[in-house]
Amino acid sequence: MAAVPANAVSGDARHGWSLSPSRAADFLTCPLLYRFRVIDRLPEAPSQAMARGTLVHAVLERLFDRPAANRSPEAAGALIAPEWDRLVAAEPELAALFADEAERGAWLAQAKAMIGRYFTLEDPTRLEPAHRELHVEAVLASGLRLRGYIDRLDIASTGEIRIVDYKTGTAPRADFEARALFQMRFYALVLWRTQGTVPRLLQLMYLGNGEIVRYAPDEADLLATERKIEALWRAIERAMVAGDWRPRPGKLCDWCAHQSLCPSFGGTPPPLPSRAEPDEPDLPALADEGATVLAGSGIARDKDYEL
Ligand code: SF4
Repeated sequence: MAAVPANAVSGDARHGWSLSPSRAADFLTCPLLYRFRVIDRLPEAPSQAMARGTLVHAVLERLFDRPAANRSPEAAGALIAPEWDRLVAAEPELAALFADEAERGAWLAQAKAMIGRYFTLEDPTRLEPAHRELHVEAVLASGLRLRGYIDRLDIASTGEIRIVDYKTGTAPRADFEARALFQMRFYALVLWRTQGTVPRLLQLMYLGNGEIVRYAPDEADLLATERKIEALWRAIERAMVAGDWRPRPGKLCDWCAHQSLCPSFGGTPPPLPSRAEPDEPDLPALADEGATVLAGSGIARDKDYEL
């Protein structure tokens, strides 16, 4: 099998719209949240949880720049401060996330604990990732463009592919695992459509509590995922045509930056923009921040795109 290129991209989109797993999760969580993020493109202030996730991902990405023998917990710990400085230089408002040095120190200690937990889950001296932060895209037969970033892609000498995703939350309850794996199946589908090979393993690494969820997909799985994504996109298109973006309140509302504009909290959404831009903004999904909450949220599901 040919190596996956640095940017795995295939096909031509029939329309300009694209869908990522994060935005798909937003629509499933709450259609109004999807509208605020994708149609209105309302700005969102960074949160400590989002910043911690970004920092932990950056450290784990940089760790593999080092020779294999030097990928120790101490080496990873030494990357935290320079990576944080780099993130703050790129996004100065991150520095204002903390009331004082003590709060910042406690937050850094949590990030350090998560990175330390990573080493209890696997030994990075025995790995040589093929790609980190790999941008992938594929266009489905309908013309819908799927896109996203894969945290890490490992390719065995046999050509077998493992997709790895780091989560800074805790592992979801078993009955919500399918939802957590949707993102991974989404990536597996994109790679299958671009490479022609079904990835051998999907691996979610929960650094909040030190658990790994693994799943071996097959073609039937990925065809079902494709049907679900197409159904989800049809639901999004219906909402676009009707201008009907209903709030779906749940426990993830605690993480929503737009409560003040949400009718479920007494707010009024702004008028819909006259022309929405087809490219999605890069924002995390609320589910990325609140895996623990998601596990117990009892989020309502729409039966024609249930995951
Ligand atoms: S507050 Fe809750 S219901 Fe309202 S937009 Fe945000 S996620 Fe949706």
